[in-house]
Amino acid sequence: MRMIFLGTSAAVASAERDNTAILCDDVLIDCPGNVFGKMIRAGYDPLKLQAVIITHRHVDHSYGLPSLLEMLRLSGKKETLKLYVNEDFYFEAKQILSAYELFREDFPSEIVPVSGSDSFFIDGLKIETFPVRHSVPNFGLKVSDSKAVVVYSSDTEPCEEVIEQARSADVLIHEATCAEFVTGRKEGHTCIEDAAKIAREARVKVLCLVHFGSELENLVDELKQKVQGIFNGRVVIPQDLDRLVV
Ligand SMILES: [Zn+2]
Ligand SMILES: [Zn+2]
Repeated sequence: MRMIFLGTSAAVASAERDNTAILCDDVLIDCPGNVFGKMIRAGYDPLKLQAVIITHRHVDHSYGLPSLLEMLRLSGKKETLKLYVNEDFYFEAKQILSAYELFREDFPSEIVPVSGSDSFFIDGLKIETFPVRHSVPNFGLKVSDSKAVVVYSSDTEPCEEVIEQARSADVLIHEATCAEFVTGRKEGHTCIEDAAKIAREARVKVLCLVHFGSELENLVDELKQKVQGIFNGRVVIPQDLDRLVV
């Protein structure tokens, strides 16, 4: 499985980091901003994209969807693109796409509502959702192929569900909006120290931190040391467009 971190920031992007979006093989997880342009910069042909998953209704996870669809259509994509959208945002997402007249015969897309306990296959990937704890209904994702299991927390407070799902996973991609020693805790989000404890408890091999708060941006080395003091496995704090293969 190959992951490309198209964006790694929390809701406020910076000069270095855009809102969090992860391309996992041919599946895009969350869709802020110009993901189309970033796929090209990362050396990935956007026309190969099979599906988009929107974990929750927050703007930093979903606002790029209409423009992505339009860019794919104008670039000649003909195969159906599947849109798996949190059921809590399904109706509004459909309205937004309709308002831009993006449900079209010359570029078919299929929008599917997803609950926090769903399971479906996209190509060779098995995708399972599980509920997490955020300010709006949200789900995390367990993505598996024949070789690896990757769990993504999406936006959440520290929660048991992530630990349960991530148990012995190859990679845990956890949000890290805050750090106790820099910003204090933030409601509905996770500090790097807690993400490290979750990774330790779940005994994952690799902990990858995303949804990085802008206050933390210049402290990456210090934060990494802090996390490594709690969690023994490999710690990755990706920059935008970094990739990880498992
Ligand atoms: Zn977010
Ligand atoms: Zn959110």
